[in-house]
Amino acid sequence: MKVFYDSDADLSLLDGKTVAVIGYGSQGHAQAQNLKDSGVNVIIGLRPNSPRVKEAQAFGFEVYSVAEAAQKADFIQILLPDEVQGKVYREEIAPYLKEGDVLCFSHGFNIHFGQIQPPKNVDVFLVAPKSPGHMVRRMYEKGAGVPHLIAIHQDYSGRAHDIALAYAKGTGGTRAGVIETTFREETETDLFGEQVVLCGGATALVKAGFETLVEAGYAPEMAYFECLHELKLIVDLMYEGGISAMRYSVSDTAQWGDMIIGPRIITEDTKDEMRQVLAEIQDGTFAKEWLLENQVNRPQFNALAKADEDHEIEEVGKKLRAMMPWLKATK
Ligand code: NDP
Ligand code: MG
Ligand code: MG
Repeated sequence: MKVFYDSDADLSLLDGKTVAVIGYGSQGHAQAQNLKDSGVNVIIGLRPNSPRVKEAQAFGFEVYSVAEAAQKADFIQILLPDEVQGKVYREEIAPYLKEGDVLCFSHGFNIHFGQIQPPKNVDVFLVAPKSPGHMVRRMYEKGAGVPHLIAIHQDYSGRAHDIALAYAKGTGGTRAGVIETTFREETETDLFGEQVVLCGGATALVKAGFETLVEAGYAPEMAYFECLHELKLIVDLMYEGGISAMRYSVSDTAQWGDMIIGPRIITEDTKDEMRQVLAEIQDGTFAKEWLLENQVNRPQFNALAKADEDHEIEEVGKKLRAMMPWLKATK
């Protein structure tokens, strides 16, 4: 797999261009601030009533409505929540696209699932940092960067690849390394990862472990520490050195339990279900259901979220975290 670094990227491809970052949330603020500090001419597009208008202005950005920003820009980076991108694109961006513009994303969902269908005479690609926005900013400020992905959907100019790398240089991505992928691969692996392992798998595992201990009569506080709190320590070790480094750090008793019991928890049946989940991502079932859920104002999303907010693990967690004021939660 080819990795691109600073020396492969030419930031001057953005000279004389106006980059509109649409949205100023997690990714928007980070990418915009890094680009600005890299010398790129960046403006921000937001809804007029957005509480983030002031924040962006305080950093020295000119802030416009989405439509005005799209009109002024040669390069439009859409950093809105994925489920609103289609509507905002159709109403406030598409009418202002001109020949040779760049349309950019940090996730392939809307292009891959056909919610945004750009005209033929613009470049369309993604530049996606592989980390939350705040890390994108923090690492850049330290003189480092986080790895990025790029993928080209449409190369009208014949230079889409180089322009994407230039953008990734501006956000600090080429300091760490940029990997090229496709919209399909980025979208499907991202959805699979968050559903099966990172969010869905992890929360279901934590809750099931907690419930099993509490139902067997153990103190919820003990169950919380063992099944939720300590997970971070283990994940940090895996993050830094892989599974082997984690196993080197824990006791041999823990490692034996890991190796002998793990496969009884995540079984062949579980893997069959993972394959089914992947198939539903690939054939558009997941995308369709999520887009429809949004169209009817999220009744199921809200009900499921509420049920989990009321789960005992959240109650006991609140109390225990109050004993650990150094843990800073993102609300
Ligand atoms: P956020 O939810 O953090 O930010 C959303 C921004 O969009 C806010 O500034 C919000 O402004 C604005 N917004 C929401 N709805 C509208 C609307 N209807 N019209 C105009 N502006 C609106 O998004 P993220 O940064 O998490 O995600 C942006 C993109 O980056 C997505 O494609 C996501 O998949 C991708 N991504 C995100 C990562 C992350 O770290 N979160 C990691 C990698 C990729 P307001 O103040 O008005 O609410
Ligand atoms: Mg995702
Ligand atoms: Mg232990």
